[in-house]
Amino acid sequence: MNFTFVGQLNSPHLKWFAEGIKKELVAESYQYCEESAENIRMVLHFVNQDHMKPYRRKAQATFCVAVAETNAFPEDILKEGYPILIRTLSNLLIYIIHSPETLEAYFITLERGCYSVSYTDIDDQLFFSKVAKRLIPIASSRLVIDNEFHRDLPEELWNGDEISAQLGEAGRKLDALNLLPAPFPMEELLSPQDFRHVKRLFGIGGLSYGNLSARKKGQQFWMSASGVNKGDMREIGRDILLVAGYSEERNAMLLHIPPHIEPRRVSVDAIEHWMIYTRHPEVKAIIHIHAWMDGILSTEINYPCGTWELAKAVSDLVSRADDPSRAIIGLKNHGLTITGTSLEDIFERIDGLIIRQIPMT
Ligand SMILES: [Zn+2]
Repeated sequence: MNFTFVGQLNSPHLKWFAEGIKKELVAESYQYCEESAENIRMVLHFVNQDHMKPYRRKAQATFCVAVAETNAFPEDILKEGYPILIRTLSNLLIYIIHSPETLEAYFITLERGCYSVSYTDIDDQLFFSKVAKRLIPIASSRLVIDNEFHRDLPEELWNGDEISAQLGEAGRKLDALNLLPAPFPMEELLSPQDFRHVKRLFGIGGLSYGNLSARKKGQQFWMSASGVNKGDMREIGRDILLVAGYSEERNAMLLHIPPHIEPRRVSVDAIEHWMIYTRHPEVKAIIHIHAWMDGILSTEINYPCGTWELAKAVSDLVSRADDPSRAIIGLKNHGLTITGTSLEDIFERIDGLIIRQIPMT
């Protein structure tokens, strides 16, 4: 595993952070490279907020961490930090907020996670080891977001079936319950070129939160597309896709679409749903929302959306649930994945129990 630095170390705090994290990562057997290469695994991008520039990674597997600093404690850290994350085209932002007395490194994720590591005990080594511990698992996780489209959906399914109609109905219900927050207006912050770059690399278009799916038969399932209004899903191949499986060889989700359609990509969490359906034949429907519930099992690491590791962590917890076909799993600093024997079953079980504020730890 290798890493490099880009950008400018134009403040004492950024310099201090660069030196400290480099020492810690090297101690953890990461290899520091002088330059960004095609096969670089992690890029730490030190951001000059007066001249914010995107860093364009050369491969999807490169994990970009923006590092920025401020000495003015923001009123709303997520609101201030999230645009830096988007503008620099990063996977994660580490936002160092310092005063003469305190220093906090806030982690801001694409899923709008926002949590911090505090500098305490005047101990650099302890601080950087805590930062690295939170950084390494997510930086080394593997995205599974490529889509392989097969234009062979049988004609009788071009307009969907009873199950895809139920999925559309469930999307309208989530919308009516106000459980589909408005997507972050990425396109307002990015040039068309950078917006395309983000879509291509992360498979996200506009970051519309939440997704839902329902099993068709065997391991095939209908699932919401990426970046669409889930409150108004109609068209097969554009709003709702039929996921046929996962190709390990090509690390891609396999989709059947009508031959005449210009398809949209399936939701980035298709790999997670696929793993749950494959491991748990009794699960018939899955809903993922950015909200929380009390007393639930939760993942311990906030792996990014669309990674194999997130899929595995959630699916492992589904296995540990009393009844895997009716599990409610917390995704740390992110949201909920709920399995059910039907979409209707899920709505009945969450009724009145949803907490909109996701705990950040
Ligand atoms: Zn999510």
